[in-house]
Amino acid sequence: MIKYILGNSCYICDNKINCNDLICDNCLNDITYIPYINFINSNGNFYFNNVYTLLEYNDILKKIIHLYKFENIRSLSKLLSELILKRYSLEFFNQYDYIVPVPLHNKKFKKRGFNQTLKILQEFIDEDKLFNAVFKIKNTKQQSLTKSKLERKENLENIFDIEIKEIKHIKNKNILLFDDIFTTGATLNAIAKPFFYSMANKIDILTIGVSL
Ligand SMILES: [Zn+2]
Repeated sequence: MIKYILGNSCYICDNKINCNDLICDNCLNDITYIPYINFINSNGNFYFNNVYTLLEYNDILKKIIHLYKFENIRSLSKLLSELILKRYSLEFFNQYDYIVPVPLHNKKFKKRGFNQTLKILQEFIDEDKLFNAVFKIKNTKQQSLTKSKLERKENLENIFDIEIKEIKHIKNKNILLFDDIFTTGATLNAIAKPFFYSMANKIDILTIGVSL
């Protein structure tokens, strides 16, 4: 771990780099922007409206996200926020009243000691726009395997809620949910649900990567 503290080796490949850098230019070149995705929930299966994303979930992005989330390399929040801002300007974020970092279960939060999605947003979003009042009702791992598929789906849909005292702020507001990776959309849909029923005007999603 000494090399990380000295900050002179790339986190990914160990190449020598400048003291202030985290990842070398070679590795950064492997980060791949994808064309604009504007997924529109036209069939009404989801509680959210549009999905915006920016990067292919390739090996380099997987490694960066892993280092950030599980190796606890918190300084990567700056790099990740810069990648986002290369694609989406502050004007994009200004169309929303609240930006919502995907919450972690308390146990995970305690283990990691920080909410990584919140930390990325804090790099460039004003504190009063961050809506950090969503909580997870129960751990999804506790889902019984004996339950039917439908029961499990409903179970998964009802695992997030908004703190009661904050619900009144959601009506007619434009909401952006933020997470690292978009896969099936099931978790993000579960988070969108309480905003939908709190009468939000629009619920969009932004993720850094997409793995469809
Ligand atoms: Zn490298």
